[in-house]
Amino acid sequence: MQEKVGLYIHIPFCISKCAYCGFYSQPIHLHNPKRLVEALLRQLKDYEGISKNVIARSGTTKQSSLLPQNRDCFAALAMTKCFKTIYIGGGTPSVLPHELLTLLLKKLQQFLPNIEEFTVEVNPADVNEQFLKTLKQYGVNRLSIGAQSFAESQLKLLGRRQNPKQIAEAVKIARDVGFKNINLDLIFAIPNSTMESLKYSLEKAVELSPQHISAYSLTYEKDTPLQTAVEAGKIERIDEDTDRRMYEFVIDFLNDHRIYQYEISNFAKKGFECRHNLNYWANGEYVGIGPAAGFYYNGKRGLNIADIAGYIKAVETGKPVYNEIEMPDKIEVACQTAVLNLRTMQGIDIERFKERTGFAAEDLFKKQIEKNKKFGMIDRSGGRIFLTMAALPIADSVLCDFASID
Ligand code: SF4
Repeated sequence: MQEKVGLYIHIPFCISKCAYCGFYSQPIHLHNPKRLVEALLRQLKDYEGISKNVIARSGTTKQSSLLPQNRDCFAALAMTKCFKTIYIGGGTPSVLPHELLTLLLKKLQQFLPNIEEFTVEVNPADVNEQFLKTLKQYGVNRLSIGAQSFAESQLKLLGRRQNPKQIAEAVKIARDVGFKNINLDLIFAIPNSTMESLKYSLEKAVELSPQHISAYSLTYEKDTPLQTAVEAGKIERIDEDTDRRMYEFVIDFLNDHRIYQYEISNFAKKGFECRHNLNYWANGEYVGIGPAAGFYYNGKRGLNIADIAGYIKAVETGKPVYNEIEMPDKIEVACQTAVLNLRTMQGIDIERFKERTGFAAEDLFKKQIEKNKKFGMIDRSGGRIFLTMAALPIADSVLCDFASID
């Protein structure tokens, strides 16, 4: 059986920087997007064998710094692995000039026969019929739309480009063009928001009948305008208690509308859970193309260079494209698997965990399970170990316990 791998492509461009953004992204007008796309295509070339079942003959396959140090070994990998999902994220992929995005989409056609899910992130302000038709034509079957809020004042505070009308319009065009799998990203606990304004945003979101909603509490990243404004006393953060109540409200509201929580921050109608991300949470392999893209492949976990010029230079000169890399040992893999599995409502499937890691989860995490069970944060039933509802708002602190076995 072929082992399945996710493919993530990072487009690190935006038109402008949102006030809260801590991701690696740069204003597109400061860069030459063509050079970046050419570099992406070059990095992608290293994986051409995957999904095509092509035996790369020794000497004909370009050696990647990420791939094993001998080409026969790559040939073996290419034989047994295939890309199952593609996710083009950012940044904002929809700000790429359309001819460049098309160039990338054309290159990805070779992987389509095995692809179950192909997502592209879009900003509602960039959406038009022609653009979405192009995505559809090249096999994109899932759109992730950065809605964030349906309150104009909140979008302004966040520094977003879109307005609520554009979000509704984007979803309508997507449907008309034939997209049947649409995600809306939402942010809650935005300064000045109330339970009423949150309810309003959720109502507007579900009115658009998305198949999937990702809802995150606003985070205050270092050196962002938002964080600076908070430090200067110009903006007041939503207090922890309200943040927690808002999160619980999101869960209840979406569950009531049959958009079920399947991960700490992700909700979907039955059968529309994001397969690409499910692979992350299963601690499955994924390849990362582009600056600041993460990867977990062939036993190596890491991050590509988070600098557009540095990344392009590395690709062009055949140097390693990553600047952080680790090779987790068996115990570390087991801990990483547990932490990722526990993010989902399914939690750790005890049997599958054993197959994957070689460890019995109940023995390996005996201390952690006992401690968190005592506080009602972890439960066990049906061959699974999972977070309780009480644990969800403080999930990070529970997950922290599983990050190592000390
Ligand atoms: S669109 Fe996304 S990546 Fe770009 S600046 Fe805003 S939050 Fe950051």
